[in-house]
Amino acid sequence: MTLKDLHPWREGALIDSTWIAASPGQGTPVHDPADGAQIAEVPSLGAEETKRAIAAAQAALGGWRARPAGERADILMRWYALMLEHQEALARILTGEQGKPLAEARGEILYAAGFLRWFAEEARRIDGEIIPAPRSTQRILVWQEPVGVTAAITPWNFPAAMVTRKVAPALAAGCTMILKPAPETPLTALALGALAEEAGVPAGVFNIVPGDAAAIGSALMDSPVVRKLSFTGSTPVGRMLYAQAAPTLKRLSLELGGNAPFIVFDDADLDAAVDGAMLGKFRNAGQTCVCVNRFLVQDAVHDQFVDRLRERIAKLVVGPGTDPGVTIGPLINERAVVKVDDHVADAVRRGGRLVAGGKRDHGLFYQPTLIADVPADAQIARDETFGPLAGIIRFHTEEEAIRLANDTEFGLAAYVYTRDIGRAMRVSGALEYGMVGLNEAAISTEVAPFGGIKASGMGREGSRHGIAEYLELKYVMMGGL
Ligand code: ADP
Repeated sequence: MTLKDLHPWREGALIDSTWIAASPGQGTPVHDPADGAQIAEVPSLGAEETKRAIAAAQAALGGWRARPAGERADILMRWYALMLEHQEALARILTGEQGKPLAEARGEILYAAGFLRWFAEEARRIDGEIIPAPRSTQRILVWQEPVGVTAAITPWNFPAAMVTRKVAPALAAGCTMILKPAPETPLTALALGALAEEAGVPAGVFNIVPGDAAAIGSALMDSPVVRKLSFTGSTPVGRMLYAQAAPTLKRLSLELGGNAPFIVFDDADLDAAVDGAMLGKFRNAGQTCVCVNRFLVQDAVHDQFVDRLRERIAKLVVGPGTDPGVTIGPLINERAVVKVDDHVADAVRRGGRLVAGGKRDHGLFYQPTLIADVPADAQIARDETFGPLAGIIRFHTEEEAIRLANDTEFGLAAYVYTRDIGRAMRVSGALEYGMVGLNEAAISTEVAPFGGIKASGMGREGSRHGIAEYLELKYVMMGGL
């Protein structure tokens, strides 16, 4: 069975419940990063179609927000059930365009579906407040209302989860949405759109517009109808969108780059630290925004940690995500491979000791790499690597670890391994990050508030805080009682 035969497969854009196909040769090709083969062609839309999608989302808003929350919740729950039913097909489409091992893709589909379930549940808990008023003849009511028409721009590293994490709270809150998926991975988003329709999401409530990023982005940002943007991607594009949002004063959620430190103290459970390191570094071939970028390891356990990580890295299996047993798939594109290669060369030039890997394999595959004795000013320590490269920096004291960890413009995720409860609390408190994994590397879950500070952005996704991003407060003062 080819990908095109899978049930939720779509190659068109979705505007107002109409699927728009690409004119052959005029669209954007989608490639399998494992072998470079073209697997689809999706429409390359621009400002004109984006304006149509905005108009459709605006027209659909009144009906959708007026629906009882329980009805919106039921539709999201049906969508959730359809994602589970089609988990295997969705995982195959995801691996086909993104490259991650199938086992990880299956996991991502479950994780992504979890946002639909969570926000379906939250939809019915959007309640208000009654505040004691200054006079006895008054009552103060606080209502929560949907912000209105919203937009989402998503990246290629989690083609399913980054979509549901935005669309689920939006729809639960009573908002409508226009999504621009990443050009590398539009197919998972389109498949989700097909399942949304099947679940009963009405026309215009969820629109998907693939194509020219700058043109679609500007049309969304210039429109006074669009009241909010949720963006996950790079910090430079996030900064630009922030500026573009100023004239219409849109609300923003920005989930941008990270530079996650992974601190191993000499009192840590080393088995747990090594397990956490493998997961935190090599998941999705190192291409997640919460992936470890810098290992900071205390003197006394440094050599042992490096040895154990080397042994585990030797067991990783590089290959196409569809091959059984593969744990490291291809990187997303040539630019990504070149960046990892540059970071390796830079670290070695500055005195880093290459312990494993260090070279590109064939195509877009890169050998899982370990470099010890990395100086703190190396590129890997400053700049998001987004690849299967672990660089180890040695430190001596707790103060030094905190200083090194915070010495970055980013502030998304940090990881700390220690068995000393006092140190655990001190260091978690001192880290300038939105999220801390304490003796734990798996921090992403729909039930917790995911997000960063500083150059890693603003706003939170997941948990009850995630739906607040799509709600406005309205205060009603009743007088003359
Ligand atoms: P990456 O370099 O990892 O692809 P980007 O920030 O460039 O990260 O991409 C994340 C998302 O932002 C993608 O959907 C991409 O198409 C989109 N994007 C890139 N440039 C712009 C832009 N000028 N306006 C709006 N969206 C953009």
